[in-house]
Amino acid sequence: MRIVVVGAGLGGVSAAVGLHRAGHEVTLYERGAELREAGTAIVIMPNGVQALDALGLGDYVRGQAMPAVSGGLRDWRGRPLLVTDTAQAQQTFGPTVVVGRARLHQALRAPLPAELVCTATPVQRLEPDPTGVTVISDGRPTTSADAVIVADGIGSRLRGRLFPGHPGLRQAGRLDLRGMLPNPPGLDVTDLLAGILIDRRTGSMFGLFPVGESDLYWFTDSALRGTPPGADEARRQLLSLMADWHPAVPALIEATPPSDIYVDPIACLAEPLPSFAIGRIALLGDAAHAMTPDLGQGASQAFEDAAAVTRHLGDAEPADVVQRLLRYDAERRPRANRLMRASSRQSRLTSQTGATAWLRDALLRAIPRRLATRQLAAIWHV
Ligand SMILES: Cc1cc2nc3c(=O)[nH]c(=O)nc-3n(C[C@H](O)[C@H](O)[C@H](O)COP(=O)(O)OP(=O)(O)OC[C@H]3O[C@@H](n4cnc5c(N)ncnc54)[C@H](O)[C@@H]3O)c2cc1C
Repeated sequence: MRIVVVGAGLGGVSAAVGLHRAGHEVTLYERGAELREAGTAIVIMPNGVQALDALGLGDYVRGQAMPAVSGGLRDWRGRPLLVTDTAQAQQTFGPTVVVGRARLHQALRAPLPAELVCTATPVQRLEPDPTGVTVISDGRPTTSADAVIVADGIGSRLRGRLFPGHPGLRQAGRLDLRGMLPNPPGLDVTDLLAGILIDRRTGSMFGLFPVGESDLYWFTDSALRGTPPGADEARRQLLSLMADWHPAVPALIEATPPSDIYVDPIACLAEPLPSFAIGRIALLGDAAHAMTPDLGQGASQAFEDAAAVTRHLGDAEPADVVQRLLRYDAERRPRANRLMRASSRQSRLTSQTGATAWLRDALLRAIPRRLATRQLAAIWHV
């Protein structure tokens, strides 16, 4: 079958590899001039690693497994609030992986023959007819496909065209700053690894993960408001907001050059999509279920989508496509939308301030480690 994948992010690339390996004639359209993934690092949860295994892409990430340290939530000074036994959960579900985004993208796209990829080719419209889909793109002759996988990311234009009544994105009104750096000599961060620090005074959070042997990846979700400032100004504001946190927090922010800091407004879909499949067209990744980053599930869900769409279309003939994509939708939509809602709930929980946040911290302290670990594992259980 001829299959077009629109968008060469982590989701689109993994779907393109899966469908190509299943024997289909795949073309991957990317609007950017080159294939690349910008940014720092990414956390891939055990369910995402399993999905990459199903696509035959798990080897690289398994080589980057995070050491089993206990994670959970801490207050802004680093005092434990909710401790999870990551080591125990990983024994059951497999490793959590933290990896540089650029390297991950490189590893995932490596099996894709270069001639299947068309860069600098934004897709503008999809025109379905009973036997196929015409793909209208800028800078390329119009193509016709038996199936189209839409993986054009959080700001998906095609989603808006496919679901004209959908309200699109909801801005959380918060900013995410993240950076990656070599572990500064003499700075002991052992206690903070794989954990999230939250501050009930300002509703801000800071997360820290190890990347490989010697690098650290930090991210924040803060109540810095207004237009996203440049990295310099954002770092200055963040340092002032987190000056009295655990000493490692301002030290790490200060040690990261502004050129290595990424600033993103946080957004998610305002409402779940009514379907991930319309006729011969399926949506995947952030185009289908953009969620806030609070559970670290965005990419893992995109990998689950890619594995599922590959499985459902694997041996399909053109006449089967509509039926197969309905099965893809039935399998993926309930879980992805549940996690999208859970991510928003987690965002509301960690950004509380005042008396509610004080009560939240008291309740979190009372939750036994075993229960917290079980809740974490429930997210990973596919
Ligand atoms: C701050 C932050 C931190 C995050 N941290 C994590 C984390 O730790 N773990 C995790 O699992 N997830 C995380 N996520 C989410 C994760 O990054 C995304 O869910 C994931 O990258 C989505 O991949 P995607 O392929 O769906 O979309 P994208 O990566 O956005 O890819 C979309 C691609 O489509 C291309 N495109 C767009 N329009 C067109 C068009 N019309 N024609 C052709 N090409 C087009 C774009 O150029 C892009 O290459 C985080 C997100 C944010 C914002």
